[in-house]
Amino acid sequence: MQIFTMKFYWIMGWLLCALNGFSQMNEQKVVLVIHGGAGTILKSQMTPEKEKEYRDALSVALHKGYAILKNGGSALDAVEAAVKVMEDDPHFNAGKGAVFTNEGKNELDASVMNGENLKAGAVAGVSTIKNPVSAARAVMEKSDHVMMAGRGAEKFARQNGLIMVPPSYFYTEDRWRSLQKIKKEDSLRTEPDHSGRKNSSSGMYRVTNHDSKFGTVGAVALDRNGNLAAATSTGGMTNKRFGRIGDSPVIGAGTYASNATCAISCTGWGEYFIRLVMAKTVSDMMEFGKMDLAMAAQEMIMNRLPALGGDGGLIAVDSKGNISMPFNTEGMYRAYMDEKEVPVIKIYKDE
Ligand code: ASP
Repeated sequence: MQIFTMKFYWIMGWLLCALNGFSQMNEQKVVLVIHGGAGTILKSQMTPEKEKEYRDALSVALHKGYAILKNGGSALDAVEAAVKVMEDDPHFNAGKGAVFTNEGKNELDASVMNGENLKAGAVAGVSTIKNPVSAARAVMEKSDHVMMAGRGAEKFARQNGLIMVPPSYFYTEDRWRSLQKIKKEDSLRTEPDHSGRKNSSSGMYRVTNHDSKFGTVGAVALDRNGNLAAATSTGGMTNKRFGRIGDSPVIGAGTYASNATCAISCTGWGEYFIRLVMAKTVSDMMEFGKMDLAMAAQEMIMNRLPALGGDGGLIAVDSKGNISMPFNTEGMYRAYMDEKEVPVIKIYKDE
């Protein structure tokens, strides 16, 4: 009798293990990677309290997006949810917390892309949409267009039931102070700019403090069905003028996703990311150059970008679930979680 019971338990145990192994074999990897911007983020300039605030903020966004993937939700839903959390958090330069333009306004840009069908949507220069990333998704799903700007984009968002806010919703004391500081530095500047002129009253627009741009947010994900998606949202650069639009809403520059290769969200000095067509170039290096994700992303961020004088970083995940997060600045707020369900949250270069 005892031998029979032992055998029974042994067989049951073996069956359970086999079943578990089988279901794991069939289980597609799920991955979520997020960023909260790249720039001169130095430990020496950060208080432990501030650092904790950022790590907590990243953790909330990461868990929100990952829960969707874990429950079998789409990569698209996951990246939108994670970005929305960061848009609502004043720590980041997106949504509430967006930086100010030279005229003291907040003009937001965002985009989203679905790697399954290469559909994409973007909004640029909007001031009354609470969550620009959701407006970008509405452009993708509810219109025949890819990009809408300014008043038109806002009208479209309102018609599609998105939450609208007065422009004053985006005001934060911190960002206002940054604008005043930069304007003051700009007025005191004596060294010549790109044109050889001595100050911005010449009418030349020059980026005086390119660190003022960090805080852009983004997310990339791989879901249980093997689909990839990417989303990026930003307030752009402090003191921007003349309706300046950065790379974040430009599909192929700041955002790209294709199931054939990878999903990418960029952050950094947008003009350089546009000129390098950053995200699509990484994807092309994989598709046509047969490079792996890490090699392609490293080459673009660590070599091509600084060679032109630009800075920043990107987050990426490929169709197999490999992650890459290169940046050539002092730091980049970044985090990821995969099926191990251990959140990895990093800020500085040497982490
Ligand atoms: N890339 C954004 C822009 O240039 C800024 C950033 O990522 O921090 O608008």
